[in-house]
Amino acid sequence: MKSLKKAGLIKTQPRMLILDIFEAQEKKHLSTNDIYMALQRNKTPLSLGTIYRVVNQFEKSGLIQSHHFSPDNAVYELCAADNHDHMIDIRTGKIVEFHDEIIEKRQKEIAEEYGLDLVDHKFILYGYFN
Ligand SMILES: [Zn+2]
Repeated sequence: MKSLKKAGLIKTQPRMLILDIFEAQEKKHLSTNDIYMALQRNKTPLSLGTIYRVVNQFEKSGLIQSHHFSPDNAVYELCAADNHDHMIDIRTGKIVEFHDEIIEKRQKEIAEEYGLDLVDHKFILYGYFN
């Protein structure tokens, strides 16, 4: 289990419940609504307000990161050590992760060429899966 303490957060019931949902990994990329529904299914419901607040705290402390794959919906996932990128099916919303050494390397090289001190990157492919 990822440590709340390591992220500088005190253990509270809502934080532990929400972290459990992320770690259950039925789905890796969760919207606040997904979290809400999962908590309902687990019979440990929390209000959307509480979920927003905790997700915000998790993001600020570096426990999770947000993605805006579509303009109207943010999804969140646990920050992983591996640097992966995403493919999105724009019809179904299906998300597939991939990792490519050449892309990683080229991004670093390009940033260097332009004198950019690289701290983060987003590389997303949009299309339709067959
Ligand atoms: Zn991901």
